[in-house]
Amino acid sequence: MSDKNNFEKNKPTLGWRFDNSYLDLPGMLYTQVLPTKARSPELVLFNKNLAESLGLRSDIINGEIEAEIFSGNHVPEGAQPIAQAYAGHQFGYFTFLGDGRAILLGEHVTPNGQRFDIQLKGSGITPYSRRGDGRAALGPMVREYIISEAMHSLGIPTTRSLAVSTTGESVSREKRLSGAVLTRVAASHIRVGTFEYVSQKGSVEDLKRLADYTINRHYPGSKSFINPYRQLLKATVRRQAQLIAKWQLVGFVHGVMNTDNMTISGETIDYGPCAFIDTYSSNAVFSSIDNNGRYAYGNQPKIAVWNLARFAETLLILLHKEPPKAIEIAETELAEFSSLYQTCWTNGMRSKLGIFNEEEKDKELFDHLLQIMQKNNADYTNTFLELTQMRKPQGEMEQNKEFVDWYIIWRDRLTRQSQSKSQSIQLMKDSNPAVIPRNHRVEEALKAIEEKNDYSILNALFNILEKPYAHTIDQLPYTKPPSPSDKPYVTFCGT
Ligand code: AMP
Ligand code: MG
Repeated sequence: MSDKNNFEKNKPTLGWRFDNSYLDLPGMLYTQVLPTKARSPELVLFNKNLAESLGLRSDIINGEIEAEIFSGNHVPEGAQPIAQAYAGHQFGYFTFLGDGRAILLGEHVTPNGQRFDIQLKGSGITPYSRRGDGRAALGPMVREYIISEAMHSLGIPTTRSLAVSTTGESVSREKRLSGAVLTRVAASHIRVGTFEYVSQKGSVEDLKRLADYTINRHYPGSKSFINPYRQLLKATVRRQAQLIAKWQLVGFVHGVMNTDNMTISGETIDYGPCAFIDTYSSNAVFSSIDNNGRYAYGNQPKIAVWNLARFAETLLILLHKEPPKAIEIAETELAEFSSLYQTCWTNGMRSKLGIFNEEEKDKELFDHLLQIMQKNNADYTNTFLELTQMRKPQGEMEQNKEFVDWYIIWRDRLTRQSQSKSQSIQLMKDSNPAVIPRNHRVEEALKAIEEKNDYSILNALFNILEKPYAHTIDQLPYTKPPSPSDKPYVTFCGT
């Protein structure tokens, strides 16, 4: 039997239920295009838990068949693939962009009615590829898979990763690397940059259609307000403030917070040059191209507001017919970010330090700890881990007078609440991950895959990262900071 017949006979019934509502939007927002066929695809990672939660079958029927699906060789029934158009401010400069190496298969609607974008990343050239090859290398796709799933396990809104399939072809980067396709699952791929695109290229009617679509998909409650577009802005500002606070609390550096990499849904997207901090520093930058530290750890909240201001600008015309009034509305909503962010961050820090009630000087206490950590090159995650065990972190901090004084004040602070010490410890365990995807661990797993086709290190790491708040013995080896030879860690764009 020919391969084709064989495929037809075993036609996979993964359980997809595709809808393609994005096609109802103005045609400028997408181009219908099929994924480029991969020569000899192989399924290398498949996220069974995610498949189950999407109402898909989670058992592999036959790896070859799934590889056909997750490489883009077989377009599932009901899917009408498109590449999405968008624009973006990249490092502050406006550009027209679009899915240059990604194709949206369509929207899968789960049995309980939730709608998710199913996107193939690395699936070939599109009209938006510019000078790119439309392809992705295995390492960066596995990296996105592991870090996005780790973020989800940490409780941080994010796009998810369903599968990675190799293509059997090589891609040319600084050297030749194995090509791969990642299947990404997202609440949607509507970005600040999507609005920027329409506001530059479309009519007010086009913009209204995108805004209405976005409201329907992400913030349906906005429709009952007199000005739903103001509500859309308000809700997006709120979601982003909550998201960035969560990033800061776990020490996540996105690395390329261009407006095309900021979703309206409030999910983290695009795990290119991202990394987690080991040593605490507000100036931490990992990306090789972020020379001025625009996207440094400590700048992320400011950059989020900058990006949201670009979003608000696109909405001005819908906010009020009189421009000065529209600007006033936009400014009022943007100004909310700061207090929303501070509240989320401060509450998060309270939990990380076992504090249940509020005191005016709490923020001072938290800022002081961070200053001490920065001065002493303390490991961010492990400092909180040691405090969770109600002990002083070993190393430089243990003997440091400033820290010892801080520690006494903190322990005293814990007595000014009705909860017991063990309740504080439980709160801290639930709020401080024992493990994060430390860069040296992720690199070690990727190296074994790239050099030996060995997935065992990755799978072991993946199992650990699934339960970051478990605080169990088996996590211990993964809590170690990198050795000095692993530093400084640098990430690369254009992957
Ligand atoms: P990113 O930095 O990954 O957010 O990508 C920025 C833009 O470059 C997006 O429009 C991508 O689709 C595009 N892009 C990145 N890599 C490639 C590639 N290998 N081929 C074509 N387009 C790409
Ligand atoms: Mg991007």
